[in-house]
Amino acid sequence: MADALSSLGKAMFDDVPWEALEMGNGMAVMAQKLPSAVLQRFNEPPGPALNAGGRCLITGDPTPEEDQKVIADAIFTWARELGAIDFAHWFFPLRGGCGAVGGMLGAFKRDTLIDLEFGSKFVTKPMKACLPHERLFQGETDGSSFPNGGLRVTHSAAAFTTWDRASPPFVTDKCLYIPCAFVTHFGKCIDEKTPLLRSMDAVKTSGLRLLKAINIGTDAKTMHSYLGWEQEFFVLSAALYKARPDLVNTGRTLFGKLPTRHQQGDLNYFQPIPGKVQELLDIVQAEMLKVGCPMAVKHNEVAPGQHEMSPVFRTANVSCDSNVLFMEVMNREAAKLGLQVLFHEKPFAGINGSGKHANWSVGTDTGLNFFYPGKNEAGAKLYVTAIACLAYGLAQYNEMVRCTVAHSGNDHRLGAQESPNLGFEQFVESIVKGGDLLGYKAEKKKQETGCSAAMHIEANVEDRNRTAPFPFCGNRFEFRAVGSSQNCCLPVMVCNAVMSAGMAHLAGLVEGGMSHRDAVAKVFQENKHVIFTGNGYSAEWPVEAQKRGLPNLNTTPKAVATWNSEKNKKLFETLKIYTAEETEARQEVMYENYISALCCEVETMIQMTETGFLPACAKDLEKYKGVEKLAGNRKAIYDSIIDQLEKLKAAFEKKPHSSLSEEATYLCDSIKPQMAALRAAVDKAEGASWRTLLAGPGG
Ligand code: ADP
Ligand code: MG
Repeated sequence: MADALSSLGKAMFDDVPWEALEMGNGMAVMAQKLPSAVLQRFNEPPGPALNAGGRCLITGDPTPEEDQKVIADAIFTWARELGAIDFAHWFFPLRGGCGAVGGMLGAFKRDTLIDLEFGSKFVTKPMKACLPHERLFQGETDGSSFPNGGLRVTHSAAAFTTWDRASPPFVTDKCLYIPCAFVTHFGKCIDEKTPLLRSMDAVKTSGLRLLKAINIGTDAKTMHSYLGWEQEFFVLSAALYKARPDLVNTGRTLFGKLPTRHQQGDLNYFQPIPGKVQELLDIVQAEMLKVGCPMAVKHNEVAPGQHEMSPVFRTANVSCDSNVLFMEVMNREAAKLGLQVLFHEKPFAGINGSGKHANWSVGTDTGLNFFYPGKNEAGAKLYVTAIACLAYGLAQYNEMVRCTVAHSGNDHRLGAQESPNLGFEQFVESIVKGGDLLGYKAEKKKQETGCSAAMHIEANVEDRNRTAPFPFCGNRFEFRAVGSSQNCCLPVMVCNAVMSAGMAHLAGLVEGGMSHRDAVAKVFQENKHVIFTGNGYSAEWPVEAQKRGLPNLNTTPKAVATWNSEKNKKLFETLKIYTAEETEARQEVMYENYISALCCEVETMIQMTETGFLPACAKDLEKYKGVEKLAGNRKAIYDSIIDQLEKLKAAFEKKPHSSLSEEATYLCDSIKPQMAALRAAVDKAEGASWRTLLAGPGG
């Protein structure tokens, strides 16, 4: 036993480079290598949270040029030690659209770590290995070649990458990655990251204002928002994947009958991970650790071939970065093993889809978590206050939250009702009726198991509601509606935005002379309709939600149409997250991504039917020449494929081009049902003669 345990321990420590955690973290390295004055100016010693930002980051001041040089040199030396030959500004353009197969990846181009050396009249050694400071902090590229919602055009295309100084650079695949924001020549954002960073500033401004107003935790110097993602995905053989044009083109199967054996009995959930997949996940876990991102959990999910991994949570920007990197590393390492990872939200109809739960919270540099029902009075009061702020944000900006998870892939998986779930509905009622803010206890509850061998359990304060898209999880909220292929930046940005709106609103009431208690009661009174503890999957909930006046934006075009409302634009402007122009641009990109994804799906469907299924049907019928009776109703079934195909082609040709919203709405309302009809016909044929159809026309 002891031997077995020690060899298990040895294997764990041998295989995974735990010590890499410190080494792989650019911020930790800077903390070790930089002169203390430079470090202090840049980044005070990290706070309680991993990588929490420092002085320049708190004030937003530029890093002085002399400091930039010292920092660039330190990073260069470290990157070379880790084997880097290139560096790259790594950023998140607004790419969406079809091909979310590998997830929403980052953009970068690799530059060598060798530069010309100027400064001497007689150049004897013109080349030097280095990372020039100006290239660490800034890069330039063509903004018109990335989706930009009309903010860039070919004749005025300049766009800049600029280092997100609160996110540590890292080395992977022999390249020093520098996580960046991406803005136009005029500083307008055309990426996912910049609005998130701006929203983190908004949390800081509104959060500190609230703390001051309610006189709690006033020693805080700054606030952070945190994210811990849970990434679901499918893994399959790369060879099988490549044989499916629909998977390759669109990330999901556009055809395919539900197999007789699928996910009945929930047998797959938490089963042992299949060997080859386990190998992949172990490799990825080690790779993530090397760049300073410890993974926390890996397990099988509900559907066959479906799995999940999640890291330890970190500041929101760093965690968003690590999620994109995770998808990139998964793709890279899977290819080496002959595997393919699918990050699409619904690769296979009829079985579970994949999400990316975004566990989110906000807190101070002094360690106060706003969503932890604290053990002392101040903590308890802060918690109820924060929930009131969030309820305000979600109630007032429900549609905005919905938009952040609206895209073609997610339409296959979302029920689309937004409502936080809090077991403390009654407590809210008591506050509204005049009760004290301190009536809610965070104590765990003891529950007996009913047998002597297994000890009692310490149950959390709140039961978990798996039907709510935004449940409370004891110290955080879990935004469950985020799609598996998505970049987390937009959903987390909007969580931050609506929370900031709530914090500013409540602070305003107190600053205006209202008591803390009354302000919380008033905010609950006006917004408690978003708090719901029942079954969000039940047939009653949509009816109840409608009664409460909650919108049901059940498709992407319906949701996206609400994005640029005056109310949203005003909030984004007040919080300095988006200008009105940037809000509009983002909407345009959302429509474009939706349209391009659907058009690609339609065209792939047509092609697969014409070049694959119809010839296979003809071949199958040949077999029954002279024995027509044995063919049964195959001919009728195969003929119906042609009918549905022709209808789809005709409808697709009539697609309007008047405006993006009309085009998107038409694709959603008129084309999607016809795609489903064609699929149904083909899937029925597969049922009639699956061997022939699977083998394709040649087989
Ligand atoms: P679940 O029980 O929901 O399956 P997991 O353990 O798989 O939970 O994932 C929970 C995620 O939430 C992890 O990434 C974890 O680090 C993160 N998390 C925990 N506390 C917080 C917090 N206060 N803020 C943000 N994320 C958190
Ligand atoms: Mg979870």
